[in-house]
Amino acid sequence: MTEADCIFCRIAAGTAPADELYRDEAIIAFRDLHPQAPVHVLVVPREHIPSLLDLEPRHAEIVGRLHLVARSLAERLAVADRGYRTVFNCGNEAGQSVWHIHLHLLAGRPMGWPPW
Ligand code: 5GP
Repeated sequence: MTEADCIFCRIAAGTAPADELYRDEAIIAFRDLHPQAPVHVLVVPREHIPSLLDLEPRHAEIVGRLHLVARSLAERLAVADRGYRTVFNCGNEAGQSVWHIHLHLLAGRPMGWPPW
């Protein structure tokens, strides 16, 4: 998978469509194409990092910022008070299907634990 083939790189570059909610120099956020909850947003670094296993110490700040953007979107979308869930899937058994890391922000319905 090269960056040219990566759907999230293409969304970040503006060459593929998305229902975008946030963009800055390092992060984009857009609604998931197949939402699993009334609010389902993907918060994505613009840098192509295929999996959490590829994280390096220099990524510590961007991973923290993904969570800050998720919180700010949860507030903006008026779900922060009820509660929301953030999830990174890492690898096949965890269900990762897009090989460019992304933080799922899910909210708007009660959620079970553990996830299946
Ligand atoms: P993963 O399974 O890798 O944790 O999550 C990938 C997510 O990306 C899935 O929830 C899937 O619905 C979403 N997704 C895949 N392709 C696209 C796309 O082209 N546009 C958007 N907005 N979401 C996508």
